[in-house]
Amino acid sequence: MPGKELSDPCMDCRDHDAILTIRRRRLCRNCYIRFVSYKVLRRTERYRFRKGIPKTGPCKLLLPLSYGLCSSVLLHMVHEQMEQLSKPHSPPGFDLHVLIIEPSSISPSSPSHDRAFESLKQRFPLASFTQLPLHSIFELVPNLQHILPNYAGQALADDTSRSPKERLDAFRATITSATSIADVDFILLNRLVIAFAKSIDCLGILWGDSDDRLAAKTLANVATGRGSSLTWQVSDGMSPFELEFSFPLRDLFTAELQNYAILFSELTDIIVPDTPLSENVLTKNLSIDQLMMRYVSSQGEKYPGVMSNVTRTANKLQASRMSTDGSKCALCATFICNSEGVLNPTRSTNDSPSHQFCYACDRSRPGLS
Ligand SMILES: [Zn+2]
Ligand SMILES: [Zn+2]
Repeated sequence: MPGKELSDPCMDCRDHDAILTIRRRRLCRNCYIRFVSYKVLRRTERYRFRKGIPKTGPCKLLLPLSYGLCSSVLLHMVHEQMEQLSKPHSPPGFDLHVLIIEPSSISPSSPSHDRAFESLKQRFPLASFTQLPLHSIFELVPNLQHILPNYAGQALADDTSRSPKERLDAFRATITSATSIADVDFILLNRLVIAFAKSIDCLGILWGDSDDRLAAKTLANVATGRGSSLTWQVSDGMSPFELEFSFPLRDLFTAELQNYAILFSELTDIIVPDTPLSENVLTKNLSIDQLMMRYVSSQGEKYPGVMSNVTRTANKLQASRMSTDGSKCALCATFICNSEGVLNPTRSTNDSPSHQFCYACDRSRPGLS
């Protein structure tokens, strides 16, 4: 029986009309979904088949969800895989736990989004969900209660009688430059996610960074003096926090994830779109991270190969070879590196608190930024 005439046949199946173009190929809905999902499937293979992990017993993974495009799409794709894994004779697979740090506790201008939390639980029944405010970091990482006042120094009059939220807000208000705010907030979020993952015995964390986001992170880390953190912030493998880090969206661009999200109405309901950076915002008011994101999104459209190259190169980096005496930064909890074995230039022999912090954290301290 002759097939129906197609005006724009899909280049993969030839059975349906194409609706989207990806990497110069015109594809139909199903073939598009298969193409992008496969990029993630390949990255999560180790956990699906438990390669190098005990085949029985729990294998718990944490997925931090921000209600942004990338982490929401990652949840959708990983949950589809779990549905496949729940069939008889499937590989042993993994358990998925999703952590949401309440957006309104990070920025008062963000909506609380409680309705989305309820719809998440209904739409993704194979995963379990926890929502925490940012200030629960004091419960999960109790010693930060002493470290943060030390870090802020005279800029902060810490009042232990106040609520955890008020204390954290007062601390965050001492950091002034856009770059330092982004840097310190990233550290706090990261520490909360890691501490939570450990508290529920996770093997690893699935981070929702796309290719262009990883490229921006790579460039911003170098610019803010966090080059030695690059390996674990952008590469798959064991992190310094005894948890495996994995970036399953590393082969996909944000625009490709956007096209995927449009195909599923349940995703459009959950995702809070990023507020686009206005062209009128003065460059000096943007953090280096935002500047890099703006640069990567504008250049990435013109030269996608360049951005993939940045990310691929960073993924091949070995852990820092810079010497360290094994001491860890009190704020970001990574090893303090000393160039050629000499003391960190920010270290002093008197008992100034700066010796607790790595070079990059020290640069973001109030009064210095
Ligand atoms: Zn097709
Ligand atoms: Zn640090």
